[in-house]
Amino acid sequence: MMKQIVDKSRKAFATGKTRSLDFRVQQLKAFRRMLTENEAVFKKALKEDLHKNEFAAYTYEIFGLITEIDLCIKNLHEWAAPQPVKKNIMTLTDDVYINYEPLGVVLVIGAWNYPLVVCLQPVIGAIAAGNAVVIKPSEISEHTAELLEKTIPRYLDKDLYPVVNGGVPETTALLAERFDHIFYTGNAIVGKIIMQAAAKNLTPVTLELGGKSPCYIDKDCDVDIAARRITWGKFVNCGQTCIAPDYVLCEKSIQDRLVKKIKESIKEYFGENPKLSPDYERIINKNHFKRILGLLEGHNVVIGGETDESSCYVAPTVLSDVNPDSRVMQEEIFGPVLPIITVKNVDEAIQYINGKEKPLALYAFSNDKKIIKRIISETSSGGVCGNDVIMHFTVTALPFGGVGHSGMGAYHGKHTFDTFSHKRACLIKSLSMEGVNKIRYPPYSQKKVDWTTFLLSTKVSKKALTLVLLPLFAVVAALILKKYRWELASRGIQIALAFQRLCFKQDH
Ligand code: NAD
Repeated sequence: MMKQIVDKSRKAFATGKTRSLDFRVQQLKAFRRMLTENEAVFKKALKEDLHKNEFAAYTYEIFGLITEIDLCIKNLHEWAAPQPVKKNIMTLTDDVYINYEPLGVVLVIGAWNYPLVVCLQPVIGAIAAGNAVVIKPSEISEHTAELLEKTIPRYLDKDLYPVVNGGVPETTALLAERFDHIFYTGNAIVGKIIMQAAAKNLTPVTLELGGKSPCYIDKDCDVDIAARRITWGKFVNCGQTCIAPDYVLCEKSIQDRLVKKIKESIKEYFGENPKLSPDYERIINKNHFKRILGLLEGHNVVIGGETDESSCYVAPTVLSDVNPDSRVMQEEIFGPVLPIITVKNVDEAIQYINGKEKPLALYAFSNDKKIIKRIISETSSGGVCGNDVIMHFTVTALPFGGVGHSGMGAYHGKHTFDTFSHKRACLIKSLSMEGVNKIRYPPYSQKKVDWTTFLLSTKVSKKALTLVLLPLFAVVAALILKKYRWELASRGIQIALAFQRLCFKQDH
């Protein structure tokens, strides 16, 4: 069955219709209509899957997709246009450019935590880049997955953009097929399975994974502001955000104040009892609920800790003085639990961060920009946000993706278009001027080497052009006067090289 679906997509891709930018724009507009005309049902499905309220569903899911589509439609002609590149002197009169071409049939596998965004945002860029896309939503956010399966074919080309629903067996069957790119969002264990399957066909992959994103708070910092921002970023979507601050590193002297301020922020955002708040989500299912419960064991719970299995509720929870070797610090929490680890200073924080796998995001709060810059220069992560959390995600000009165990490849805006395009190197030469080519044909000689070195090492800038034109004129003249050709040509090269050196000296 999977073979038939992929074959159908490949056939549809082979018709060449996605090469047309007008066709892509038309599909993107239909995509946009799908989101706006079905806004209410999408919100309902998100409520059923994650208890998302309609404002959060619109802001964090639907709105982001609409702006991504608008960005693609507005810029597609510019992004897809052949991009001229700098030429060398041998190709001065030729066409030299990068051509963006679609990869073919790509597979996009989504995760459940933001079931619309993480599944559909890559799809938008893949369509814009002219690919056929097999869409596999996460089965764990089942209501949204079912809705996507029903709704997408009503708006988009059915053969080019099929939706496949199902769990591990269906995804495994899909992975047995050959794709031209696989874009996967989810955890690192499955990420390895994806890479193995892709390797069989030398299929490139983008892996959008997760990990433990640290959040350092300097003692020279506005702790009140930091607490407000961290409380939002940690507990939005009930902590089930890939770039949520996973844990806090701070000096002991500010821990109590931080806890107090986080407590106040929780109350301000979700009221006395977050369980009654329409703005507080739930854990996706009982398996994840139990996993998170296990992470609380043996810790000093200073905020929250209340749970209710029947509704998969876990209160916004903060753990203080956490032992860095404890279980909660060994895996991505992906729930509303914030451990605080105290460190002696920024050096110890950097050392701790560098002792772990490279995270998807890294956060640092300080009044002193130098501290933030130092942390950036001495650590590595997919992205960084100073004095805030999550917000770097919203800047479409920034590539969003991981490094090391937090993933490979990136997307958002033009970066998605690039991810799903092959940058084809194109050079179209003229059939005339064959004389110039003699220097690359045998028999070889030192003179030909001199010529080649000269021609290929000359930078084509206006200044260099002026400086080489004069001696080149002599060279050309020499070539015409066959009698003195090599003698004058060599002299010409020497003069040109001398000018070049002079030019180089002036530049430096
Ligand atoms: P998930 O369980 O929904 O899995 C993701 C996809 O993998 C699903 O479509 C599922 O069908 C497929 N899958 C699961 N097991 C498989 C197997 N054995 N073989 C083949 N396919 C399989 O999602 P998850 O992994 O629980 O998602 C949470 C993780 O995703 C967290 O680590 C989070 O940080 C990460 N995440 C990352 C991003 C990002 O943009 N970097 C976004 C969201 C989530």
